[in-house]
Formats: sequence, C-alpha cells, structure tokens
Amino acid sequence: MTTYPLHGRIEGAVVIIGFGSIGKGTLPLIERHFDYDAARLTVIDPDPGVATFLSQHRIAHLQVALTPDNYRDVLGGLFAGGPGFCVNLSVDVASRDVMRLCREMGVLYIDTVTEPWKGFYFDSTAATDNAARSNYALRQAVRDEAARAPGGPTAVSCCGANPGMVSWFVKEALLRLAADCGEAGVAPGVAPGALPGAVPGALPGAVPADRAGWAALMQGLGVKGIHIAERDTQARRLPRPRGTFVNTWSVEGFIAEGFQPAELGWGTHETWFPDGGHRHDTGCGAAIWIERPGAITRVHSWCPTPGPQFGFLVTHNEAISIADYYTVGDPAAPAYRPTCHYAYHPCDDAVLSLHEMFGSGRKQTRHEILAPDEIVEGGDELGVLIYGHARNALWYGSRLSTAEARSLAPYQNATGLQVSSAVIAGMAWALANPLAGIVETDEMDHAFCLAVQRPYLGPIEAHYTDWTPLQDRWAHFPEDIDESDPWQFRNVLAT
Ligand code: NAD
Repeated sequence: MTTYPLHGRIEGAVVIIGFGSIGKGTLPLIERHFDYDAARLTVIDPDPGVATFLSQHRIAHLQVALTPDNYRDVLGGLFAGGPGFCVNLSVDVASRDVMRLCREMGVLYIDTVTEPWKGFYFDSTAATDNAARSNYALRQAVRDEAARAPGGPTAVSCCGANPGMVSWFVKEALLRLAADCGEAGVAPGVAPGALPGAVPGALPGAVPADRAGWAALMQGLGVKGIHIAERDTQARRLPRPRGTFVNTWSVEGFIAEGFQPAELGWGTHETWFPDGGHRHDTGCGAAIWIERPGAITRVHSWCPTPGPQFGFLVTHNEAISIADYYTVGDPAAPAYRPTCHYAYHPCDDAVLSLHEMFGSGRKQTRHEILAPDEIVEGGDELGVLIYGHARNALWYGSRLSTAEARSLAPYQNATGLQVSSAVIAGMAWALANPLAGIVETDEMDHAFCLAVQRPYLGPIEAHYTDWTPLQDRWAHFPEDIDESDPWQFRNVLAT
C-alpha cells in the first residue's frame, strides 16, 4: 500500500465549501496528507447532485447555498468558536467576507480565487462599471482587509494553480535564470553578489530573503515581464455538442472571469498604452484594465508543446499580485515593475465554446467539465514565460498529462490536480504558519510549498526560447508593432 507524507494536524472542524471539480479532487488529498477528526469534516454545497457521492463516502453534507444573509450562522455553527480549517472551493461565495469571519473565529482559511457573492459579475450595479468588476477591485478589497486587521489567524488568498502555484514558479524560474545567466545576465549597475535582500556574499541563484530582494533580483536580471503561459490540450473522443460550454474546470467560473475586463500588471518598460486602457485611481496601482472582455482579447505567447500560440488575456489575480510584489520604488512612480498577464489557451472545446457564446450573445445553458475517465488525450502545461532578459525568454512550469494525473490521484484531470495539489500545499503552509494574517502566494515560502506540491505536477521543466512576439507573424497585412523592442505589450496584443 502506498503511504503518503502527513503535512500536519488540523484541530477542530474541517469545512469544504463547494464540491465541484476542484472540491471533489481536493478531498482525497486532504484525506491523504492531513491528520484530522473525520467526523468533523463537512461539505457545504447546494447541488443535490453531490449528495450521493458524499453519503457513499460517509461525508457530512450540508445542502445549502451560502449567502450574505446566512454564512455567519452556517459557518459559526460548524466551527462553534474554532479552531478549524475552512477550504473555500466554491463559486458565488465572497472570499473576503468568509475569510474575515474565519479569522474572527480563530479558524484557518484558504481559497483559490477572490470570489464575490452571486450577482457581482452580471446582475449588480457593478455590472455596468467595468473598473468595479475587475479583479483589481476584488483583490484590493482583500488587501485592504489585510491592512485593516494585520496578523492574526492565517488566511491564504488565491492558492490554486493560477493564481497560486505560478507565483512559486516565478521564484524558482528567477533563481534558475540567475544561475544560468551568471554575471552576464545581471543588469548594468547591479553587482550579482550584492543584490538587495540576497544572502550576504551570494552569487546569482542565492535565495533572496524578502520581497525587496526578490524584486531587486527580477529587476537586476533585466526581466521585462511574465506571461502565465498555459496550453490545455485535453480532449475527449466525441466532438463538443453545439450549445454546450465544455471546459476542464468550472464553466461558471470561466464564464465569469472571461466576461470581466482584460487586465494586466503594467510594467515600467512599456512605452505605449492600449486603446480603451484605464489605470486605477486607488489601490496599489500595479495594473491596468482594458475596455474589452478578457476571453476575446488575444495575445501572442509561447508554450513548449505548441511553440508560438494565441492565448486569451483573461483577468487573473496573479497578474496584479505579481506585478505588485515585484515593484521597486514608490508604487505611484516605480523605478521598476514587470508587465504580467495570463495568456490562456484553454482546451479546444472551451475555445469553441467561447466562440459560440460571444458570437451568439448568450451563455450556453448546458455546461460540461471534462471528466478524467472520458479524456482520451492531452494534458495541461502551465508555466511562467519570463521574458526580456539576457537569455530572451524562459518558460518554467508543469507539463502534466491527464494519464499521469489519473495515476497520481482520483477524481481529477490534469488541470484539477494542478489546482488541488496547490491547495494542499497552501494548507500545509498555513498549519506551519498559523498566525501569518492574510497572505498571497507571492508572500509564502515557495520552496516549502513546491516541496509539498511537486509529487503531483508531473515533469516540471525549464525551456529557453528565442521566440519573441515579433516572430512567426503573417506578413501580409500591416500591424501596429514596435520593432525596436520585441517585448512591448503593443507587440504581444493581437490585433
Ligand atoms: P465548479 O463549478 O465545478 O464547482 C463549484 C461548486 O460551488 C459547485 O458544486 C456549486 O454547487 C458550488 N456552489 C455554488 N454556489 C454556492 C454557494 N452559494 N455556497 C456553496 N457552494 C456553492 O467549480 P470548480 O471547478 O470546482 O472551481 C471551484 C473554484 O475554484 C472556482 O471559484 C474556480 O474559479 C476556482 N478555481 C481556481 C483555480 C486556480 O488555479 N486558482 C483553478 C480552477 C478553479
């Protein structure tokens, strides 16, 4: 029988909110890797469809939708004054409010996205105000909460694959790049052994000790920006039925984020500003948004399997958090900040689903998430493409096939396992650091977290490429490009 490492003991109740594709995949990993009182584990999910599975597995199920009116009573009853661990893997349950309540009760908390209450994306007055519907606004509310109530019980914000794991990959990739570049890769004026925050006397590749050190390392390496570069090649045998949105994870979640405006961390090397682009008047100032849904805004990007590809500029928390974390100097007029955004090529069925949805002007009513046993080929390669430095560009990430995912853990495809294993890593970190306050994954110990997660990620690979967004374009039509600097966002954004 396989034995798995235990990553800590959870005292008190364990509550999983949401039992969709990620919740169902995370539960067996919680069972494997944590010691807790199984009689005190409860799943909250309003979907009657999950009841049979949970009763067969003798898991307590509370079939209720959490709302702004009931969440305090429901969660207060389950935790009964704490301690415990709340694992929020739902849609339509506001992360900020639930994490605040958990911290009041002395309960640890984790989620994979900063989710609002139901209605925020489409029905509320915010629906007409695209700045208010941005991830920047959602994230800033959590950052404001962290500033209002610093320290205290740990709440890990946005700890899935992306946002989440990719922030740990950025750090691994920077160390790799520093080691590979040596002195040649370090920008003029920065002595490799003297990077602020680095271990004294360190050579490139030594681990910075704090945020300023990481930011200085990225700046010193001359990095202009980062794509969260993903290619999902998972497919089933049957073609997508027309009128059905097919994806490899939450369809509801993907439609919601795809309808938010495109957003990106806005780097200091950018000399151009996109049409319809807006800065924010308040908050960290690290990102801009564009007056256009992210899921139909295409960017040129690169992943190991396809090479050059289109990705969608879907808004994500990490595009903002990474740009914010690696800012050097006054955030209002930074000396350095990388550009950072998602460049997402979802599975081919999801691309067709988006095409149909945006073309018809209405959401499909039938939703399907590709189940592990119906997927006949493919996997998910999810990494960070760090560009603009002495070695041009480095993709660093996980290339997990569904076949391998199936052999590693039950109930999830490759995408799901990249997410659920990050949740486990974040939970382990929270148990080891129970009074860290509200944290983002950029602020966590990336080596600790990846050590927990690595067994579930398949090959983690580093690929250097000489590709730039100026290459592999069709030469027949004039384009608005800047040939003096291949890594301008102007060249990345597809016309
Ligand atoms: P899913 O759509 O498969 O499942 C969501 C579940 O939430 C459903 O079972 C639904 O019944 C439940 N739910 C809906 N309203 C609820 C409410 N009011 N109270 C309690 N439960 C409610 O989604 P999924 O694929 O499991 O994803 C779960 C979450 O994880 C989503 O928010 C998604 O955006 C996020 N996610 C993050 C990453 C990442 O890498 N960071 C990746 C994938 C998914």
